[in-house]
Amino acid sequence: SHFKAKENLSKYGGRNTVTLLTGDGVGPELLSHVQEVFRYAGAPIDFETVEINANTTDPEYMEEALLSVERNGVALKGNIETKYDDPSFKSMNVALRTELNLFASVVWCKSLPGVNTRHQNVDIIMIRENTEGEYSNLEHENVKGVVESLKIITAQKSTKIAKYAFDFAVKHGRKKVTAIHKANIMKLGDGLFLECCRQVACQYPDIQFTDMIIDNASMQMVSRPQQFDVLVMPNLYGNILMNVAAGLVGGPGVVPGMNIGEDYAVFEMGLRNSGKSLKGKNVANPVGMLLASCDLLDYLEHHRHATLIRESVMTVLSDKQVHTPDLGGLSTTLEVIQAVIDDIKPKTKSWYV
Ligand code: ADP
Ligand code: MG
Repeated sequence: SHFKAKENLSKYGGRNTVTLLTGDGVGPELLSHVQEVFRYAGAPIDFETVEINANTTDPEYMEEALLSVERNGVALKGNIETKYDDPSFKSMNVALRTELNLFASVVWCKSLPGVNTRHQNVDIIMIRENTEGEYSNLEHENVKGVVESLKIITAQKSTKIAKYAFDFAVKHGRKKVTAIHKANIMKLGDGLFLECCRQVACQYPDIQFTDMIIDNASMQMVSRPQQFDVLVMPNLYGNILMNVAAGLVGGPGVVPGMNIGEDYAVFEMGLRNSGKSLKGKNVANPVGMLLASCDLLDYLEHHRHATLIRESVMTVLSDKQVHTPDLGGLSTTLEVIQAVIDDIKPKTKSWYV
């Protein structure tokens, strides 16, 4: 398993309650497909749905969302659209992550069986600081035409994310952690991030530590991605490099993501797209959200159900070749879901006799 949930989660008779944060675009439809798959898989999860999207701007919706995640400890989430044209409209996704102190964003980009891509054998664990850096929401225009945009790097958060990355590497038998930075230019900010990673690395003599400048890392990522093992990154570099890596293994539809804190965990699509142009068209790829839901099941230690669903998704992608248009296929979202359910059904029969 990737990690372990806290003991105090809502759990009755072996069941867990999980908050569903609906989001915009294809969020609501993909989440309802996950619920359907969970029913056929017999996953012991009860969902508590909280409607939150770009139109629920009244603060009481955010309050309700936070209270629900704080109560249940775990959420599965669709992405909430952010308005570009209104500087007073702060990203609700960022607000959720900072309020819940979900300091680590983890996106594992791994080549998928049956998904044809330029590079083979990609397997990169990408760990991104999720609460500070360029996402600190501190921008101002004191003098017209001069904007200051503050990037905050703290020793506390940098050390925390570095420790998380090394622990993750140990837990999964990985060999190498690489810190990504631009400390040659941002000597203080990125310099501090890198120094914190170096300090933490000393406590893990069995894991190799290297660092790479973000520009070189971007080039290496598209030319020889197999060299990367575990990456630890400040917020914005993490965002960009995760998008590049996801593109290497099948794109925005197939990669799951998780946001982890001391107390709470929120699972979502790895690239956090809302897919608003795909909404209601039955064409969105449901694989990324399904894999995110498997990570959620693992987090809650329902490993049997997680493995069941994950294996069925892999079978549908590889043996059955049921692919949505983003993977070059002709199948609809519902056809993928039906194929997953058809694969699950005979397997769960024997569990309950
Ligand atoms: P935009 O904000 O530009 O409308 P998004 O950020 O929602 O687009 O998504 C970026 C790209 O990823 C788009 O091309 C979209 O079609 C694609 N995408 C997002 N989610 C999915 C999905 N579940 N399946 C397939 N493609 C997706
Ligand atoms: Mg977008």
